[in-house]
Amino acid sequence: MSAGPIDPPARLLMGPGPITVYPRVLQAMSAQLVGQYDPFMTATMTETQALYRDVFATANDATVLVDGTSRAGIEAALVSLVAPGDRVLVPRFGRFGHLLVEIAERCGAEVHTIDVPWGQVFAPEAIEAAIREVRPKVLAIVHGDTSTTLAQPLDELGAICREHDVLFYCDTTASLGGNEFQTDAWGLDAVTAGLQKCLGGPSGAAPITLSPRAVEVVESRKSIEAGIRDADSVVRADRIRSNYFDLGQILDYWGPARLNHHTEATTMLYSARECARILLEEGIDASIARHRLHGDAMLAGLQGLGLVPFGDLAHKMTNVVGVEIPEGVHGDAVRSELLADYGIEIGTSFGPLHGRVWRIGTMGYNARRDTVLVTLAALEAVLRRNGARVPTGGGTEAALDSYRAAA
Ligand SMILES: *Cc1c(COP(=O)(O)O)cnc(C)c1O
Repeated sequence: MSAGPIDPPARLLMGPGPITVYPRVLQAMSAQLVGQYDPFMTATMTETQALYRDVFATANDATVLVDGTSRAGIEAALVSLVAPGDRVLVPRFGRFGHLLVEIAERCGAEVHTIDVPWGQVFAPEAIEAAIREVRPKVLAIVHGDTSTTLAQPLDELGAICREHDVLFYCDTTASLGGNEFQTDAWGLDAVTAGLQKCLGGPSGAAPITLSPRAVEVVESRKSIEAGIRDADSVVRADRIRSNYFDLGQILDYWGPARLNHHTEATTMLYSARECARILLEEGIDASIARHRLHGDAMLAGLQGLGLVPFGDLAHKMTNVVGVEIPEGVHGDAVRSELLADYGIEIGTSFGPLHGRVWRIGTMGYNARRDTVLVTLAALEAVLRRNGARVPTGGGTEAALDSYRAAA
């Protein structure tokens, strides 16, 4: 077996994530490693924690990275907060709600769900009514669900959770950095994210933040590693059922004690640090405005091509849009042609939307005017070759009008 050096084709990733990575992030990832407890390493970890406190809009000390993709963050949060037999309420409005259910079930939770049809979000009253009925220990919910392109309003849920003494967990992977998100002001106890959406990095690190209430739960359930456990310490029946995702141990590793747990994934630390630096240099509000500007232009452009957007637009995320695949057009054939002929990737859909909806993202590095216009022009050409009747220049003209109206 012999293989050449890695040489990926030029691609413009305009799907729901992952997306083309900021060049600065790639550069940061090529920096040399240092030892696990090198003063530079521990200082970089501490710095990264401070950066992510700003990204999450929180004062939580317990703000760290879980090494792994976004799903690792979700799993760490749930396995550390939820003991077997605990009740967890999951309001589902898309695919990632199903993932929360699956993970909570594996933690041994008694999982209760409420549902709205894909394309809608919950009224806070519906979630409150379910909390009254279920009396869960944890409310677990997705903020922006890329499967439906919608964002669930969260601002009223924190007060409801506090009133009923419920821990409030949210997966904000798809929305953070491109949509408003306030950990402390919205009363969240645990939040997890990933880099490969609006933060413009690769997948592989999951930023996480825990409120003092959540830390208390985690601390009470953490395990002390065999061999360093004192002779008379007992293993609690409700200890966290994972070593790798034991947030108690992970916090001890990131905290002043620096107790050895895993070896921090240094290259992903550099990556996550650079993603946060880019976001904070731009300013979170400016980044959200940029995602909205280009998301609106993409939506207008798609409508200008005669395509029909999916879901309740009042709750659409800024950074991704779903559109119905026109009658008589083969969705996957269009996607393949866009990739093969133009080097542009757009997304397909899952579950009930599979074969019905394309998902097109404008996020992170790719939330730009040139990427929006090039994607619309290419899509117009491919749609026409696939037999769809599309107005000449309809996409780019409508997008340019949207930019002019916003200026
Ligand atoms: C994209 C996305 C993820 C991704 O999880 P990975 O483990 O990084 O693949 C998780 N949650 C939501 C809501 C997402 O949109």
